[in-house]
Amino acid sequence: MKILFVEDDPSFANALLISLRARGNEVSHVATGGNAISKFLTGHFDVVVLDLGLSDMDGIEVLKRIRSKSNTPIVVLSARVGEVSKVDALDAGADDYVTKPFGLGEFLARLRAAHRRGSPGPTDRVLKVGSRMIDLSSKQIVTDDGRPPKLTPTEWALMEVLALENNRIVSREELLRRVWGENFTHEYDYLRVYIAQLRRKIEDDPATPAYIITESGVGYRLMAEVVVKD
Ligand code: CA
Repeated sequence: MKILFVEDDPSFANALLISLRARGNEVSHVATGGNAISKFLTGHFDVVVLDLGLSDMDGIEVLKRIRSKSNTPIVVLSARVGEVSKVDALDAGADDYVTKPFGLGEFLARLRAAHRRGSPGPTDRVLKVGSRMIDLSSKQIVTDDGRPPKLTPTEWALMEVLALENNRIVSREELLRRVWGENFTHEYDYLRVYIAQLRRKIEDDPATPAYIITESGVGYRLMAEVVVKD
């Protein structure tokens, strides 16, 4: 993988750089948010690994700037503990969140999963929700007003599972497993954040969802009209 690695702690950065490069990844390392943004804009990366605690700017701000330009998967690293910054990071468009200290094996698994979600296999399915069309093959939402919402890779991965199981209740555990992987089947926070984001992007009234339905205590169900099947 081509990785942009943003970390200001030199000893931590060096240790992770050695591990990532030893496994055949091509890693560009920068130590500031400003350099991260300029490096990102001038290169092509499969995944961004972003430390939230940077010296020149808040990592969340870096995350938002990168996300406003691109759907490249972003895995956030943080020493901050607690739900607030985790939800903030996911809300700002992070694909995953790893708290330091972490095991290298798990970290690499999460990187690979984020990369996979960024380049999933094709499906030709097109669905209709209200006035919007969801085209899974081109990964586009088509709207009448010509201002379609943009979905991140993780939002598309979740949308795709719901769409492939259209009209069927998909349990929270199954959604977490199919989108994030086996080790994440209890990360209900992830789902809560991402379902809310999807609703903001595809529902006419996100506060009273008509298409992404909560099946209380069980999971979620998409109620869309299938226009093109696979
Ligand atoms: Ca740091």
